[in-house]
Amino acid sequence: MAAASQVSKTLSRLSLVKDHLQEPEPHISTCLPVSNPTVPFWQEDRHKFHDHRSTEQIPPHSDIVIIGAGYAGVSAAYHIIKEKGCADQSITILEARGACSGATGRNGGHLRPDFYGHIPTYVDRAGAEAGLEIAEFEIAHVNAIRKVIDEERIDCDFTLTRTIDVWCNEQSAKQAKQVFDQMKAREFEYMDDAIFYTGKAAEGICGVKGAKACASYTAGTIWPYKFIMSLVEIILESGQVNLQTYTPATSITPDPKGGYIITTPRGKTHANTIIHANNGYVSGLLPEYANNIIPCKGICCRIAVPEGSTAPLLNNSYINRTTDGILSYLIPRADGSIIVGGASNVFKPFKEQWYNNIDDSTLIDSAKDYYSNYMQETYNGWEYSEAAVDSIWTGVMGYSYDSNPHIGAVPGRQGQFILAGFNGHGMPVIWLASKELASMAVHAKDFEATRLPRLYKTTQERIERARNGREEDGDIIGTGGFSATKQ
Ligand SMILES: Cc1cc2nc3c(=O)[nH]c(=O)nc-3n(C[C@H](O)[C@H](O)[C@H](O)COP(=O)(O)OP(=O)(O)OC[C@H]3O[C@@H](n4cnc5c(N)ncnc54)[C@H](O)[C@@H]3O)c2cc1C
Repeated sequence: MAAASQVSKTLSRLSLVKDHLQEPEPHISTCLPVSNPTVPFWQEDRHKFHDHRSTEQIPPHSDIVIIGAGYAGVSAAYHIIKEKGCADQSITILEARGACSGATGRNGGHLRPDFYGHIPTYVDRAGAEAGLEIAEFEIAHVNAIRKVIDEERIDCDFTLTRTIDVWCNEQSAKQAKQVFDQMKAREFEYMDDAIFYTGKAAEGICGVKGAKACASYTAGTIWPYKFIMSLVEIILESGQVNLQTYTPATSITPDPKGGYIITTPRGKTHANTIIHANNGYVSGLLPEYANNIIPCKGICCRIAVPEGSTAPLLNNSYINRTTDGILSYLIPRADGSIIVGGASNVFKPFKEQWYNNIDDSTLIDSAKDYYSNYMQETYNGWEYSEAAVDSIWTGVMGYSYDSNPHIGAVPGRQGQFILAGFNGHGMPVIWLASKELASMAVHAKDFEATRLPRLYKTTQERIERARNGREEDGDIIGTGGFSATKQ
């Protein structure tokens, strides 16, 4: 009996070795965050764990290594330690810079599910159910995040709000109304929360000068850095998590004895399981994703009125579109200041300034002045506010070829998982995605047994489609005309 079990152990080890030998060659990452990023308003007061290292040396082994300490990496660790039967799982998080110094610590703080923006495209590409799954999954985040903030007593300025979409161009307003009506006609229940206004009422309802139409529904606003750093405190208190900041993973090599050896400039560490949660930088270690998830820069800023004066009240969050189609996302804060960003149509023609670009140490030159007089020019009642930009920064997002994130087991790399490619829209995606990924990584749950939307699944087919496809046919800078998903 003992001999039989020994034989079976040896066979399974040999099969592991064989699987590993079939894996792609290890790759040394050159896609790493720069060391001197712009400092966003959110991170002006650094959290005590921003530069934290749980131990002086990196641990020699952990059950799980997570690459990246942003929203995805930290949430994945949180959910793993909360999973049933995982109290003995050891986790190391390797972070190239400070904790939460990537996109999460520099975003717009807008927790805004998609109702009718990209959902019609997903419906068109993969059917009504596939689109509905995404909308419902994103909508579930508003309450799920509110719940964890309540349960864990996290102080992160969370507000439940109405988000208002605004169209100032007459033609775009008409098209938006058509799409809205088509979505209503589908009788998706979630659309009951949304309302569309046209005509003269629009400007009075949204307060945006020259608005031709607006629509609103329920969303949230949040201080993302505070949210994630509070989760960092919780996971570190568990004793299961070792956080190593300023420790980039530079290569991953299969260990013939099983698991993987992860190399960093501070030495090597071993893990049975790896979770790639480094979003825009993911192709540095997984080169097969190079055409799938492209690092793209975005710009964001804080606008405030002079000290001692009171800002006109805005108590909704916004997506504003100007007459010439420039889109900005905006959230008001309880202190009267505004966080606003976007303006991608301003910098889009200057591809080298934002596309396949990981330099968040510099602003985007063509857009850096766009928000100088934004509130005065955009909102009724702000003309004499003297509102001015008091903090401006850039960040690196992971844009994907088909606009969906890549989540699940990495094809051909046993024991490696990916949670990346959030298209500048991770707030209403990552919390529940990381919960489902946690159960895949620790309980070997199949993707299909999770509640993840089907279009999020990372597959060889998606990888190949982008690899063999042309940029001009993808969603990032192309027409989105790739044919493989069209039904
Ligand atoms: C300017 C801007 C505004 C945005 N506004 C919004 C918004 O309002 N609403 C919304 O929903 N989304 C918004 N987003 C997008 C959102 O911030 C992201 O989708 C989300 O934060 C992604 O989280 P993440 O953990 O996957 O990535 P990140 O937060 O980028 O975390 C990845 C981490 O991995 C680290 N890393 C990279 N390579 C390695 C390596 N080799 N080894 C170790 N560590 C590594 C990085 O340093 C980083 O800390 C915005 C993004 C930007 C940049």
